[in-house]
Amino acid sequence: MPGRTILHVDMDAFFAAVEQLRRPELRGRPVVVGGRGDPSERGVVSTASYEARPFGVHSGLPLRTAYQRCPQAVFLPVDFQAYREVSERMHAILRDTGARLQSLGLDEAFLDVTDLPEPGEAIARAIQERIASELLLTASVGVGPNKLVAKIASGLNKPAGLTVIPERDVEARLAPLPVTTLWGVGPKTAARLHQVFGVNTVGDLAGIPLERLQEEYGPRLGAYLHRIARGIDESPVQTEWEPRSVSREHTFQVDLRRIEAMREAVARLAGRVADDLREQGYSATTVTLKVRFATFRTVSRSCTLPAVIDDRAAMAEVAVALLDKVVVDRPVRLLGVRASKLASARSPAPAGPPAATPAP
Ligand SMILES: [Mg+2]
Repeated sequence: MPGRTILHVDMDAFFAAVEQLRRPELRGRPVVVGGRGDPSERGVVSTASYEARPFGVHSGLPLRTAYQRCPQAVFLPVDFQAYREVSERMHAILRDTGARLQSLGLDEAFLDVTDLPEPGEAIARAIQERIASELLLTASVGVGPNKLVAKIASGLNKPAGLTVIPERDVEARLAPLPVTTLWGVGPKTAARLHQVFGVNTVGDLAGIPLERLQEEYGPRLGAYLHRIARGIDESPVQTEWEPRSVSREHTFQVDLRRIEAMREAVARLAGRVADDLREQGYSATTVTLKVRFATFRTVSRSCTLPAVIDDRAAMAEVAVALLDKVVVDRPVRLLGVRASKLASARSPAPAGPPAATPAP
């Protein structure tokens, strides 16, 4: 696929920025969005505002740790409804470009602008300007010859950054970055790369011969690492992206001990999964229940049905039946329900520009 131009658009500290927008008194202050907004409870940080980040607060951190590091932060509950509304307006701005769009969740998307008349950088700037003037928020945009490079680029100059990495500069720009910048290189792979090859940066990885990587990691992963170290990625921007599963889980403030309370909780979660499925236009054939005990031991039970379901009662019945298969001999900390093997109940929404532009 020669000569593509891909944009990665990523809203900056999205949840926290939406909160600071609707509560002006929070602007300029450290804001931590996560769980129910109570740092004495269990839960993790969903988003930390830029003011909170110098204190070492970042997403994924337990709320209690975030509080220890930055007690002066304002802790707020996650309000998906509010973020979804802003996200829809953001996506409408992106669709207005006429580019093929692949959404990566509420606050990120890829656009393939190869066939548009304007250069990628101009399209990126226009998107940033509309997001700033209509949503009063900032986005960082990366422009590159593929999704891998565009996504890395958008992360290089946050917030409100616009970073263009043309094909000819890819290897040089990626070389000094830590290997964990690359998709699919998590802390475990990075530790092994360091241990076996002394690799720290993307450039170090690019210097390892293909055969050595394949010896160590097998033919597929070895070849993948060899490619991504050079910024090579041919995966297309997928418009009709189908979610592979829909799930809901809940960590209880106080461990559950009574089986009746667990059944009720599972039925409630299953109901929400069914609501999410229908909202997104899907039905499912596989239902999975997750049970995490107070000891952190986690078990799951799955069941694949002869026909698709998407209604609350059926989903709850299946999920509760799965719970009855688990030997619950100690308190339960978390319950989760997942629906997978999804079928589309309606045809996917058309790409292309939307009929209406959101009001500023
Ligand atoms: Mg973001």
